[in-house]
Amino acid sequence: MNQVYEWEHNKWPEFRKIEVTRSHSVKYFKKFARHFKIRPPLVNMTSRKRDGGQYWSDEYIDLPMVTNLGTVVHEFAHHFTALKFGRKFHHNKKFRHCLKQTYTFAKRYLK
Ligand SMILES: [Zn+2]
Repeated sequence: MNQVYEWEHNKWPEFRKIEVTRSHSVKYFKKFARHFKIRPPLVNMTSRKRDGGQYWSDEYIDLPMVTNLGTVVHEFAHHFTALKFGRKFHHNKKFRHCLKQTYTFAKRYLK
């Protein structure tokens, strides 16, 4: 497992326990985007991904049919980083900054 994932999973384990369907993820992306005043990413509804998520440079996100809130936050953070700092998709310092901000905001959806 990648270092960032390990750090992330240890820091915000409770988000992994909340199941989110792909169609419901769209609602979270819209809420996150409204809060951070950016356009929401698009979700690829035909993706055949089995686990995890993937963010593409054309602002599309691939998710499996059922995922969890942690993955939704993670993929949104890639979109957030890309719009804010340019198209950098790796797990760098800027990404971790956006990731923290998104997790902090998303805490309200844990209940
Ligand atoms: Zn990532």
